[in-house]
Amino acid sequence: MTAASLPLATIAGYPRIGRRRELKRAVEAFWAGRITEEQLQQTAAELRAATRARLVELGLPAEGGAVPESFSFYDQVLDATLALGAIPERFAGVTGSDLETYFTLARGDKAHQPLEMTKWFDTNYHYSVPEISERTAFSANPKALVAQLGEAREQGIEARPVIVGPVTYLLLAKAADGAGEGFDPVSRLDEVVAVYAELLAALAAAGATWVQLDEPALVSDSLRTTREETLALVERAYGALGAGADRPRILIAAPYGDASAALARLAKLPVEAVQADLVRGSLPTAELADGSLAAAFEGTQLVAGVVDGRNIWRTDLREAAATLRSLADAGIQTVVGTSNNLQHVPHDVADEAKLDAKLRSWLAFADQKVEQVAVLARGLAEGEEAIEAELAEVDRVLADRDAAEGVRVDAIRTRAAAAGDADRTRVSEADRREAQHGLNIPALATTTIGSFPQTAEIRNARASFVRGEIDEAAYDGFLREEIARVIALQEEIGLDVLVHGEAERNDMVQYFAELLDGFAVTEHGWVQSYGSRATRPSILWGDVSRPAPMTVRWSAYAQSLTERPVKGMLTGPVTILAWSFVRDDQPLSDTASQVALALRDEIADLVDAGISIVQVDEPALRELLPLDRDRQAAYLDWSVGAFRLATGGAGADVQIHTHLCYSEFGEIIDAVDGLDADVTSIEAARSRMDVVEPLGDHGYSRGIGPGVYDIHSPRVPGVDEQTELIRIAAARIPGEQLWVNPDCGLKTRGYDETVASLTNLVLAAKAVRAEA
Ligand code: GLN
Ligand code: ZN
Repeated sequence: MTAASLPLATIAGYPRIGRRRELKRAVEAFWAGRITEEQLQQTAAELRAATRARLVELGLPAEGGAVPESFSFYDQVLDATLALGAIPERFAGVTGSDLETYFTLARGDKAHQPLEMTKWFDTNYHYSVPEISERTAFSANPKALVAQLGEAREQGIEARPVIVGPVTYLLLAKAADGAGEGFDPVSRLDEVVAVYAELLAALAAAGATWVQLDEPALVSDSLRTTREETLALVERAYGALGAGADRPRILIAAPYGDASAALARLAKLPVEAVQADLVRGSLPTAELADGSLAAAFEGTQLVAGVVDGRNIWRTDLREAAATLRSLADAGIQTVVGTSNNLQHVPHDVADEAKLDAKLRSWLAFADQKVEQVAVLARGLAEGEEAIEAELAEVDRVLADRDAAEGVRVDAIRTRAAAAGDADRTRVSEADRREAQHGLNIPALATTTIGSFPQTAEIRNARASFVRGEIDEAAYDGFLREEIARVIALQEEIGLDVLVHGEAERNDMVQYFAELLDGFAVTEHGWVQSYGSRATRPSILWGDVSRPAPMTVRWSAYAQSLTERPVKGMLTGPVTILAWSFVRDDQPLSDTASQVALALRDEIADLVDAGISIVQVDEPALRELLPLDRDRQAAYLDWSVGAFRLATGGAGADVQIHTHLCYSEFGEIIDAVDGLDADVTSIEAARSRMDVVEPLGDHGYSRGIGPGVYDIHSPRVPGVDEQTELIRIAAARIPGEQLWVNPDCGLKTRGYDETVASLTNLVLAAKAVRAEA
């Protein structure tokens, strides 16, 4: 190996929010004007320095580019937008420092809508969507990249800048408003590649030995291109980039999925290393066996992503070591890595003092994963004998986990195994419609999605209760008052179907995780969701069951206060899984069935308590859709099946609603139909009801509530505006099928705007009813 090779241990990226969310606090203080840009930069620099030092302490070599430089103030795609100078034309008038411009793009200001945000591949992380047109003027802005590299060097660390690669960048971009008909951002690839070449030259001049370019587009079937087309674009881009003389060594990364079919072609590009996700993805077995993979990797290192960057379990080191050994034996220069950037896992298990010690011993957050990489690298260098103690320790932990109480509970498994098609099938839609007449729901019925504003008062009461400052009786009393207030308010506004408002919920998944057996919650397990926002996913570690009803007393109380129907409100099985860290020792479908059965019992109890409409939210149904087309049918089959198992016990007269948080439906419209919910609410206001056309074409016969009020902004939509949207929908969908509701829950909104907007919504529904 030459001196310039990557050392044997690296990771694809590390969380940047800080162990105690220091970055969130600093960024939000800067936005609020409480600290200066200089102070924010200072905090960020300290965080970066602490990260680098920690990575070296955990076992990554300080030299050779093993330490990734993957900091971001807000989002890595937005970082690339700034580095490429690709500021959309509509922001042309924005002035200020680079960082101010960056935040204006992310968050908008009085005169500018922010960049749209969308989920990053199949994760719950959101990126800021680049807007590109024929006129976008690209120009390299390497300042931030070069500055961070310099900081690292001063610390004695030879870091490896991480940048979203050109093909992925353009495939994630959308055509800017005003771009020509049919314009595709990818048509600007060659120009963008030229700007990347300038960035690389600047990094080389600043002493960078390696750079990592992330190309997860390589593993997705959900983009505008086929995989073959994506690979061809990557070949074109890196053929050109690799030819540049002034550049650091290039590592192309293909995280989040299976790039096995592309691996040999990637290795033949003029780049020095290729990373493959070997957790979600696999190795091309035939090419490995016949030596052609090794031949392709001649002169190129393979970063084998054997440590899972999407989950929080300790890696089976013996299995990973065997994979690494097979690569090395085949003659491939192998580096130990992670499947993807560790930005999707929390910092450190050691921070979870309150977690059950046994459970804690099974876990690996980012820091533990770095240690695992380092151990595996030692095994690769010195032979497995050298790490036998560590391998044996992991064997012991995995055996302990496997045999632990609660991981497998016979009664739960027997019940899940016995659930069949009949349990997933309700009586026909037509019979249900008939049976539900008694609910007296008018055409164009008005409702909301569930939550009402989570005020500071609610959050304070919850915090006081958690800290033990108020007792359960006081907290319950507070919540009942809140529910009574929300019910009275909805009656006053004139909504037809009411909700209890969800004041008791800290989060739509964690609330249930805390009440179900088989889950644990963390204290500091924060993971960036977008910008300064982070979530704390629960850990689903064992067989799931419901020791007691979870929502019944709140819903029943709300229903007792009104003659109008109050919707029971549950989070669906797929969303509970999607927004938790789930066990990796059985298929997701098995876990989903267990969660579904717990929800099924909850629905039965709600109905017994007098609730006649139950909403089961599945906002994450689309998010978990595999990137790999070959896996999509199986996923839709089990995920739809889990929803049907949860709701299948409801009698014909019980109306089941669901809520999906998005309107990009095309790909999964059959699956949405397959949920067999009586009513589905979706986001539609911002796209001006784009979704009703495909629904109409599909012959969708169920109840549908396309949102007429965009709750993502404090703006109050007027009566006319909402009337217009309802009319657009009513032109395609019969009134009896159509519901009138906001796009999503109201928890992030303030009361003034909520009341005004809902009042207008009810008036708009009345106006359109009068036209019929
Ligand atoms: N019922 C939930 C709410 O209103 C739904 C939230 C969501 O779709 N993310 O808050
Ligand atoms: Zn929603």
